[in-house]
Amino acid sequence: MSSIAAVGESYQKFNPHAYLQNNYMPPRADFTSEDCVVPWKLRCLAEAFATGEIHGHTLIDIGSGPTIYQLLSACDHFEEIIATDYLEVNREVLRQWVQDKMDVFDWSPYIKHVCKIEGRGEQWKEKEQKLREKLRQILPIDVHQPNPVGSPLHQLADAMVSTFCLEAVSPDRLSFERALKNVTSLLKPGGHFLLIGALEESFYLAGEAKLSVVPVSEADVKEALTKSGYKIHDFRSYIMPPRLKIGVDDVSGVFFVHAQKQPVV
Ligand code: SAM
Repeated sequence: MSSIAAVGESYQKFNPHAYLQNNYMPPRADFTSEDCVVPWKLRCLAEAFATGEIHGHTLIDIGSGPTIYQLLSACDHFEEIIATDYLEVNREVLRQWVQDKMDVFDWSPYIKHVCKIEGRGEQWKEKEQKLREKLRQILPIDVHQPNPVGSPLHQLADAMVSTFCLEAVSPDRLSFERALKNVTSLLKPGGHFLLIGALEESFYLAGEAKLSVVPVSEADVKEALTKSGYKIHDFRSYIMPPRLKIGVDDVSGVFFVHAQKQPVV
């Protein structure tokens, strides 16, 4: 079995509920502290969208998993948002959230926090409803395919977001770089890309699944983006404090990048 096939196999045991519990509940989601990792990620995204530079018709999120936090600040700036994931279990969790079914993870503290940091007085229920309406497509994806969503999109995306996907599904740096190239084909030239991921991580847990991660440094991420034809506008790093090292992974930190796909010359 190729390494990529082995990664795909290991994801068959991925448990969305355990993953959400490990990463999106306290202590990692402590909204009383801006030094905590979840508020840090939400602030990076809110500040990027607040520049007003990132807007258009369609935004695509690569490897959404069972989460929607990464789309909260985006939803005012796009007509349509496309979520994607490799696993049907994750796509089903997202569909249930869109349909407001019971038993799905409670994102309300996230939505309230984002309304607060955006500072525009938006009611959280309004934002929740807006994102549900704009999240019209939830598609299968495989970032290791040259055309990751199968048949081509009607239109290339105006912007792209991806959080903790590429390094978490790639067996080595070369696959990481190739996966980045593959997803870049979904973005129009000149389009903006907000990429968040794990620094120097080798594994994470999601229930019974232990997923291998390719450890990447800040320099690796910057090099891969440059090789894929991006200009980097902003690069930030977060060092995972000891109190948030809770045994569910061995992550050292988190990076956030705002990059732009350069127009073809
Ligand atoms: N974006 C979410 C977040 O911020 O927490 C989830 C990230 S999770 C670490 C990695 C995601 O990549 C999982 O949802 C998994 O199903 C998905 N995935 C696994 N293999 C993939 C592949 N070949 N192509 C795209 N996504 C994949």
